[in-house]
Amino acid sequence: MTRVRLILLGPPGAGKGTQAARLAERLDVPAISTGDIFRQNVSDGTELGQLAQKYMDAGEYVPDEVTNHMVAARLAQPDAADGFLLDGYPRTAAQVDELDSILAAQGRELSHVVELTADTDEVVQRLLARAQDQGRADDTESVIRRRLEVYAEQTAPLVDVYSQRGLLVQVDGMGAVDEVTERLSTALA
Ligand code: ADP
Repeated sequence: MTRVRLILLGPPGAGKGTQAARLAERLDVPAISTGDIFRQNVSDGTELGQLAQKYMDAGEYVPDEVTNHMVAARLAQPDAADGFLLDGYPRTAAQVDELDSILAAQGRELSHVVELTADTDEVVQRLLARAQDQGRADDTESVIRRRLEVYAEQTAPLVDVYSQRGLLVQVDGMGAVDEVTERLSTALA
């Protein structure tokens, strides 16, 4: 069976993590979330976690070199050989280049890039609500503002890159979780 090799793009708070887990299950591919891998390393107290934490707490991106190395290792795991869903990667032009070369070296290509769209007011509200529920260190108002700025500067331009390659599908991330999952499934069918 040919499985998807999919990137999920979208601003912080668009619901990528929630939808990534659901879609990955439906599509029978691993959901690879760089944010989750960094957070796991922080809670395990690894060297990578210690390095990543100061960037994450400030709402900044972890340096490309570090992130690229981590993703290359993850994509080399056997469970990602037939397909994957990347949530939160690539986020910079240098990460796009790295992913291109990882895939080219394996003779593979992306099958889909989905942008989950969301309006800014809504995402700020969602992130503030999540801060109360989950207590994530990077969900304070000033850090949220910085994360949205960094997204606009460094990640939003990737939408054009993938659109020019003819890979981009945009899906409205507003509304109930189930509704958004159905929209995504339809867009990928
Ligand atoms: P969100 O999408 O809500 O901002 P994530 O859980 O995807 O949150 O990421 C949390 C933090 O992890 C980011 O703010 C950043 O510091 C770091 N991070 C995650 N993915 C990347 C990436 N591809 N490149 C650099 N840093 C990343």
